[in-house]
Amino acid sequence: MEWTRGPIIGRGSTATVYLANLASSGKFIAVKSTELSQSMFLQREQCFLSKISSPYVVDYLGFNVTNENNTPTYNLCMEYMPRGTLYDEIRRHGGRLDEQMIKLYAWQILQGLNHLHMNGIAHCDIKSNNVLIGDDGAKIADLGCAKYVGEIDSNAALATSAFSGTPVFMAPEVARREEQGLAADIWAVGCTIVEMATGTNPWPELNDPVSALYRIGFSGETPEIPRWLSMEAKDFLCKCLTKDPKERLTAKELLEHPFICGVEFDHFKDVEKFIMSSPCTVLNHGFWDSLEEAESSENLSPKASPSTSSSNSAVKRIQQLIGCALPSLGSSVPNWSLDEDWITVRSNGIEEPKICSDENDLVIAHEPSAEATLAWDLISEEEVQNSTLIEDLFEGFSIDSNSDITNVSVRRDILLPFDIARDNFVSENLDFETNNGNSEQT
Ligand code: ATP
Repeated sequence: MEWTRGPIIGRGSTATVYLANLASSGKFIAVKSTELSQSMFLQREQCFLSKISSPYVVDYLGFNVTNENNTPTYNLCMEYMPRGTLYDEIRRHGGRLDEQMIKLYAWQILQGLNHLHMNGIAHCDIKSNNVLIGDDGAKIADLGCAKYVGEIDSNAALATSAFSGTPVFMAPEVARREEQGLAADIWAVGCTIVEMATGTNPWPELNDPVSALYRIGFSGETPEIPRWLSMEAKDFLCKCLTKDPKERLTAKELLEHPFICGVEFDHFKDVEKFIMSSPCTVLNHGFWDSLEEAESSENLSPKASPSTSSSNSAVKRIQQLIGCALPSLGSSVPNWSLDEDWITVRSNGIEEPKICSDENDLVIAHEPSAEATLAWDLISEEEVQNSTLIEDLFEGFSIDSNSDITNVSVRRDILLPFDIARDNFVSENLDFETNNGNSEQT
């Protein structure tokens, strides 16, 4: 399987994840890479992923070892999940998901988990950051901490008594270093539901891992159940967050709980419609194609007069943006007077080819001269000239002009639903480096 390495789409503690492109079909895949000498977790993940086949666990596509700058590099190839992590999805929706979406994702996570558990595998690090979202919803990923448990302990090398995972998602018995079995994954599902409902982990006040482990393991407390959830959802959450692992329901039992039983296709279709109406990367061609169609059907040529057609076109596109953003804002409308709530998406200045934000590793590719990225496509040169019109009509956009530079800034919350503020912002015109390494196995 030949592939070419593209831009970085994610970084974890053990590896870097790249978008890559299959030579045979041009299809996008994700390649998780690290130096061969430090690839223990990645190889472990490969062992588990290669044995699993479920629509609710990220698809395994192969592995190889390449030579990158004279360094042997281990690469794990898997399906590309265009919407990033569930954590990203929560943020895109203004910091919390509604119950309908929580229901769908909980059902999909439990389907994936049930499959792992039926094969005797405990994931050991379930959290929103390790659930990836694609066009069909959620899939479990990052099996770097997984292990075989119990009687189906067929592969001694992959069975371990070590404890692993993320402290604030650990079940009390794991925090006390007693056991880490299948039931601990169920507790972590409960914590992930709290994340979906509140936007934070279940113990936001615990900043250091040691106090987190002490509190979870020995205080007898359980995470607070979000009050706004329905009774059914609360009951479901309590069943996940049962302190005694022996009393905790299994994934299979939870799939029969009234909160999610019967979710299957009906709910999925509704939520899918919602997901699909909010494109997140330029790889979602359908959305952008439909925009083009809409424009061409109204005879809006890009060369048309700026005073008429072009400004109409900008108005429509900006309306699309704002329309998508507003439902997700909820009551948490940001303070738009603060600089950090604005992102420059277009500039004719030559400085700073990249804009990076502070806390969230946000990067916007910045190529003023090219229409290569869709951020640029949002507003054409002519529309920038016509800046007052845009500015007057839409509060979320600001135009800052002096004699040399025109910057177009967009409120961060307007961009978020499009995910173009993430470092996986990619364009069709990105250069892919050819992977010339010696493929040992794919
Ligand atoms: P951790 O620190 O949790 O151990 P890790 O080193 O195992 O992380 P991952 O969590 O698997 O790395 O991946 C890091 C990031 O890369 C993810 O948070 C996600 O944003 C991105 N990513 C991983 N796999 C994919 C994929 N298949 N498709 C799209 N993005 C992905």
